[in-house]
Amino acid sequence: MRPKITVIGSVNMDLISMTTKVPLPGETIIGSGFMTQPGGKGANQAVAAARLGAEVTMIGCVGDDAFGSELLTQLKKETIFWPNVEPVTGLSTGVAQITVSKEDNSIIVIPGANDALTPEILERFENIIAESDIILLQMEIPLQTVVKAAELADKHLVRVILNPAPAQKLPSELLNLIHYLTPNEHEVMQLTNVKAGANLLDVFNEITATVVLTKGVEGVYYQNENNLVNIPSYKVKAIDTTGAGDAFNGGFAYAIATGHSLPQACKFANAVAALNVLKRGAQQGLPTLSEVEVFMQ
Ligand code: ATP
Repeated sequence: MRPKITVIGSVNMDLISMTTKVPLPGETIIGSGFMTQPGGKGANQAVAAARLGAEVTMIGCVGDDAFGSELLTQLKKETIFWPNVEPVTGLSTGVAQITVSKEDNSIIVIPGANDALTPEILERFENIIAESDIILLQMEIPLQTVVKAAELADKHLVRVILNPAPAQKLPSELLNLIHYLTPNEHEVMQLTNVKAGANLLDVFNEITATVVLTKGVEGVYYQNENNLVNIPSYKVKAIDTTGAGDAFNGGFAYAIATGHSLPQACKFANAVAALNVLKRGAQQGLPTLSEVEVFMQ
């Protein structure tokens, strides 16, 4: 049986300019290359889960522009179902304008249509949420929509994974509805009132959800009674770690939805993320299930 995973989140087009240096304010420079790549944490995580074989539905918003239709064509190619077929008029599709140089980079994210994903739109798709094995959420859409998604999932007893990225303070009414939280080091410190530099266990103890903390090459940490358990990452020669967290979340959602235990799910998701960092771009290197199985042997 293919698990049913519903991702409620962002879809962006990444506009990537390569330069020798990031321009100073007021400066114009000639860059060395340009490319567009599909992105957005929601879409990246949806593609990760779909490549593994999950039946993925993505609820999001795009604008009435060329990027919007290109992104939806891409999602369709990945066999992801997009029920919210009407594009938003008057808003651009979400974009991330990224300037990359050897020394530095700079990013401007314009949420555009992602901000138009309202709780009312979600209500139209309550049946999809109700029939899901897992709901996978991030924080690149309005907070009240994330809260609504968690409430609808709770109403239908569907488990929720929240990747609390980008980092921000979250209300306890939301945190109390989440089953698994997957922050990185920076994000976890925003989730509680524990002071910077505090013991991680104190942070974990304040949160009712199961916390799976991702820590780059160290892999992940979760709590078992009064201990932190580390599931180490796979040792690989990373080429591009962009989207490692998204690969991890898509893999983790797939593993939890297919009944893996917490340690097994962390190990599986580490493998998905390790394979992804071997290739450039957030989505290009996302592996299929058989690639993960071969890699983990
Ligand atoms: P990003 O914002 O770049 O997507 P993140 O900060 O959300 O990343 P990380 O904690 O950096 O997430 O990485 C997520 C997971 O990806 C790690 O727990 C690990 O499994 C895997 N990973 C990241 N970097 C590497 C690496 N260099 N080698 C192997 N695995 C890695």
